[in-house]
Amino acid sequence: MKTRILIIEDEEKFARFVEMELTYEGYEVGKAQDGRTGLEMAESGDYDLILLDVMLPGLSGMEVLRRLRRTSSVPVIMLTARDSVMDKVAGLDSGADDYITKPFAIEELLARIRTVLRKAPPARPNDNVLAAKGVELDPASRQVTVRGTPVDLTKREFDLLQFLLENKGIVLSRETILEKVWGFDFEGETNAVDVYVRFLRGKIDEVFGIKLILTIRGVGYVIRDE
Ligand code: CA
Repeated sequence: MKTRILIIEDEEKFARFVEMELTYEGYEVGKAQDGRTGLEMAESGDYDLILLDVMLPGLSGMEVLRRLRRTSSVPVIMLTARDSVMDKVAGLDSGADDYITKPFAIEELLARIRTVLRKAPPARPNDNVLAAKGVELDPASRQVTVRGTPVDLTKREFDLLQFLLENKGIVLSRETILEKVWGFDFEGETNAVDVYVRFLRGKIDEVFGIKLILTIRGVGYVIRDE
């Protein structure tokens, strides 16, 4: 499978140039011209690496990075036009893996991409199908089946189920689930988790007569295999 790179950059000519070079190098390339679209595409989990311009309309590059890091550890290289120490420090602090100052030689960008990809954990680590008790969740196609029958879940329900399956056998507190699945500071409103567990039980446990998500009183939730 080709390595997929997303370019979030509003300067169209520049983005097209980078896209051409990366495609020539054998990468599959996606493009977004503003921060909001870029964030959505980056969050999809379809990309192995993100090239993120700092100066973007709508949502700034820093803000995109900050939000992306709530849910994703995909490698990010910041593209900055200003050779300022502040930008670099702020970028690396917010979870960028590297930065490169424009204008740059394409060879330098390619070298940094290779380095960051080498250091990164296996590309799209969640591409394996997760399963328990007849429930199968495919992160790549975002499909859930129970004993082969497709189940229609909302994005949040899917993300919650995925997180529970990824941590099969581990009891997860509501706080941990909120932090990892919702990613926001909910000011202690952890009952959002209970509500979504109920939704999932309504669509899976009750329909298929299984006990998938177990409540551990006073602690949280767990999916076990037995
Ligand atoms: Ca820009």
